[in-house]
Amino acid sequence: MEQVRPFVDERLGCFCYACNGAPATRDHVPAKVFLDEPFPDNLPIVGACRACNEGASIDEEYVACLLEVAACGFRNEPERPKIRRIFRERPAIVARLGRAMTPEGCIAVEHERVQQVITKLARGLWSYEIGEPTELMKAEVRFNPIATLSDDDLDAFLAISAPTIFPEVGSRLMIKVIEGLGEGQGFHPWQIVQPSRFSYAVDIGGGGASARVKMIIRDVLAAEVDLVASSNPDPGRITR
Ligand SMILES: [Zn+2]
Repeated sequence: MEQVRPFVDERLGCFCYACNGAPATRDHVPAKVFLDEPFPDNLPIVGACRACNEGASIDEEYVACLLEVAACGFRNEPERPKIRRIFRERPAIVARLGRAMTPEGCIAVEHERVQQVITKLARGLWSYEIGEPTELMKAEVRFNPIATLSDDDLDAFLAISAPTIFPEVGSRLMIKVIEGLGEGQGFHPWQIVQPSRFSYAVDIGGGGASARVKMIIRDVLAAEVDLVASSNPDPGRITR
C-alpha cells in the first residue's frame, strides 16, 4: 500500500475508532480474514476497544466465506487458502452457507450481518484516513454484488469527487490531496490494500456533514457507507 505518514498516527492510538472509548488494542482495517498471506506492508491500523475489535470477528468470517462462495461457487473448493482452512475447521459455517443456497444456486444473504461488518470497515477506514473517531456519525449502508451492476452503475460507484472541503490538517487524506495537487496528477482516491481482495476510497466531496466510504471486497461486493453527523448515532458497537 502507498506509504503516507500523517501527523495523526499517534492520535489514532488514543481512542477507539468506533465508540471513542479507551483503546485496549489495535485493529486492522480490513480484518485479516479479508486478505491473503503474505499480508501487504503498512496495513491500516486504528485504535480499538476490546468489544469493538473482537465483537465482530465471527461476522467477519461469515462475510469472507460468503464472498468466497460467491466468487468460486458453493460446490467448488475456495480459492483463498484462509477460507479453505476456515471451511475445514468450522463446518458450522459451511452448513450455514449451504442452508442459505437457493434451488437456483443463489445465496440468501444474512443482510444484517453483512451490514454490520461493512459498517465496522467503513468506520475504521474513515478513522484511519481522517484521524477522528466516528461515534457521532450514523451509518447508512448499501451493498451490491458487482456482477449485478450495469456499466453506468459501476462507473458511478468508482467515481470519487475531488474534495470540496479539505480534510483535517495532518490527516492521511489531507496529505494525499496535497501531494496529488503538487504532482499535478489530480487526486487518486482509491487505495488498493491487496489486489482482488480489498480496495477502498473515502469521498468527502459532498460537504462537511457527511462522508462516504466505498469498498470493493473480493472483487465481488461493492459496498458504500454514508457516515452522517447525527445527534443520535448508533456507533454499531457490537455486544454479545
Ligand atoms: Zn469501541
